[in-house]
Amino acid sequence: MIPISFEFYPPKTDEQRTQLDRTAQKLKAHAPEYVSCTFGAGGSTLDYTPETIDRLQGHHGLDAAPHISCVGGTRSELAALLQRYRSMGCRRLVALRGDLPSGMGHPGEFRYASDLVAFIRSEHADYFHIEVGCYPEIHPQAEHALADLKHFKAKVDAGADGAITQYFYNADAYFRFVDDIRALGVDIPVVPGIMPISNFAQLRRFSEACGAEIPRWVGKRMQAFGDDADAIREFAADLVARMCERLVDGGAPALHFYTLNLSKPTLNLLQNLR
Ligand code: FAD
Repeated sequence: MIPISFEFYPPKTDEQRTQLDRTAQKLKAHAPEYVSCTFGAGGSTLDYTPETIDRLQGHHGLDAAPHISCVGGTRSELAALLQRYRSMGCRRLVALRGDLPSGMGHPGEFRYASDLVAFIRSEHADYFHIEVGCYPEIHPQAEHALADLKHFKAKVDAGADGAITQYFYNADAYFRFVDDIRALGVDIPVVPGIMPISNFAQLRRFSEACGAEIPRWVGKRMQAFGDDADAIREFAADLVARMCERLVDGGAPALHFYTLNLSKPTLNLLQNLR
């Protein structure tokens, strides 16, 4: 069985905490290599993310990796957060630039994720295993596709150990991305980020913002199902499961699931995997 990991976001209310507990409990049965917890760029989850990591480690016994983003943060704030994670026993981080919420003040002292990776290495040498993000369908703010590849390579040169992709529904974009970075001499593992489809309207809105393409034919099929939630669920789970199989057959080293703190869409998908 290929290694898998699950991504959660930090709950802020007791109700959300209960939901995360339920989800983590159910997904734990699939023996993830690790789980991760997102971070609100600009510091909106400065306490919630560490609290969630603590819960995932202590209460659920999972190896939990915090996401850490540099936008909006200062050197000393990031140094303190890294120290906090180190004292909690974390050995793996997902290091990102983040996107500052619109209208939110200071951009911070680091401009790009490569600066953050270099900072983590300078402060903690090889203590942390560092994952970074990557974009088989090109990051929406990149000047152009080749520049995006070069900027990705800069993160690896700064010390990233592995990468997790933005989600996508075109397996060919992943294979091409991997070929392109290998041609640039980058040899770290690139793990596909998999977004199970639960709420299609929400996914469509979100995808426009983050630059993930939903193939036209998939949108058309979804539209044709109308309000038939069962048909949508079945089609979506089958579609994403077949893509996961193609990715694994084609050499993907692991799969990282964006759970949105829900167990069902990811479980449906895992059950559909051959
Ligand atoms: P970078 O690698 O810094 O790249 C950002 C843009 O800048 C790209 O267009 C790149 O081409 C360009 N660039 C990089 N270096 C240079 C340079 N030297 N000169 C010019 N241009 C440059 N966001 C959150 O807020 N919290 C999270 O927890 C979170 N988790 C994520 C997990 C994964 C697996 C992924 C893929 C994304 C996640 N994101 C998260 C979203 C991410 O923060 C955004 O996609 C953000 O816009 C880019 O972050 P990055 O780390 O990829 O940035």
